[in-house]
Amino acid sequence: MIGNTLLWLSERQGVFEFIKRHGFSKKLAARFVAGETLDGAIAAVRSLNAHGISASLDLLGESVCDERQAESARDEVIGVLDRIAAAQLDANVSVKLTQMGLDIDSEVCVRNMCDVLSSARQHGIFVRIDMEGSTYTERTLRLFSERLHPEFGDVTGVVIQSYMRRSAGDVDELIEMQARVRLCKGAYAEPKEVAFQDRGEVSRSFATLLERLVERGNYPGIATHDDVLIDHTLAFVERKQIPSERFEFQMLYGVRRDLQDRLRRQGFNMRVYVPFGTQWYPYLMRRLAERPANIAFITMSVLKEAMFSK
Ligand SMILES: Cc1cc2nc3c(=O)[nH]c(=O)nc-3n(C[C@H](O)[C@H](O)[C@H](O)COP(=O)(O)OP(=O)(O)OC[C@H]3O[C@@H](n4cnc5c(N)ncnc54)[C@H](O)[C@@H]3O)c2cc1C
Repeated sequence: MIGNTLLWLSERQGVFEFIKRHGFSKKLAARFVAGETLDGAIAAVRSLNAHGISASLDLLGESVCDERQAESARDEVIGVLDRIAAAQLDANVSVKLTQMGLDIDSEVCVRNMCDVLSSARQHGIFVRIDMEGSTYTERTLRLFSERLHPEFGDVTGVVIQSYMRRSAGDVDELIEMQARVRLCKGAYAEPKEVAFQDRGEVSRSFATLLERLVERGNYPGIATHDDVLIDHTLAFVERKQIPSERFEFQMLYGVRRDLQDRLRRQGFNMRVYVPFGTQWYPYLMRRLAERPANIAFITMSVLKEAMFSK
């Protein structure tokens, strides 16, 4: 219930303006976002790399409905790729197609993505296409498999959400294409017609899909902080004798740092998704919706800071 309200709020730009006007915006976001600037994000990536952890940099932004804004996001993402290359960081990039103009026109989006992917190819850096709400699933997968993957191959990959009822079929097709897939549970409020609502069903779907991807896929990213699913992955790869170089675990910046370090120390590849930028509001609200206890945690930190800064 609280989770759904937070997801509803995540789409209300007016609430974001209110939060920003009242001055506690940066403190609210700091738990999950590596700052508003690229410099802040690069510092976070350096620190992860120093612990043997890779990163995926995400310039926050979505639902762009102006062509110039989409082009400017494209240029910023290309700037991120340049910076990763110049600083020789162990990092790739994640983007959302609605940030590249999918809501405006799919050709605008493809053009911007081709520019991003050409730059990525020159630098030898991978670009992941995040998955958004279910109204974008078909278009995202179609653009990926018909336009972007045929031209750019392993420079790019997509995301599959285990809560989507269609995902088993999508995973089989992506394995067939040997496309690179990140598997996650899914972060949006979806109707029961398209998505499992029961947490057990979402987890069972995740377990089935991860087995297929780890056994037959192309370097899948297993993106979860769920101990049961991580243990399931570890038991499965041990039973099937699948070497740890064949896949990676992925987690979010600011979530389960203990687990990130533990898996890394055990010799598994670990990548942390590092979001940055000024457009952090929808992202933050999705993180709060996943774990409403975060609201209390963040409110306490904001209050503490406010009290001690006087
Ligand atoms: C690298 C990465 C990329 C992602 N990309 C996408 C994407 O493209 N599209 C998409 O729809 N979703 C994406 N997600 C989000 C994902 O779909 C889930 O919403 C999110 O990961 C929470 O699910 P979980 O598997 O961690 O399990 P949960 O059952 O939600 O959480 C398991 C445990 O993890 C911890 N935890 C999880 N979330 C939080 C949180 N926000 N704050 C504090 N602790 C938490 C808690 O200890 C919790 O008990 C991504 C997630 C990751 C890790």
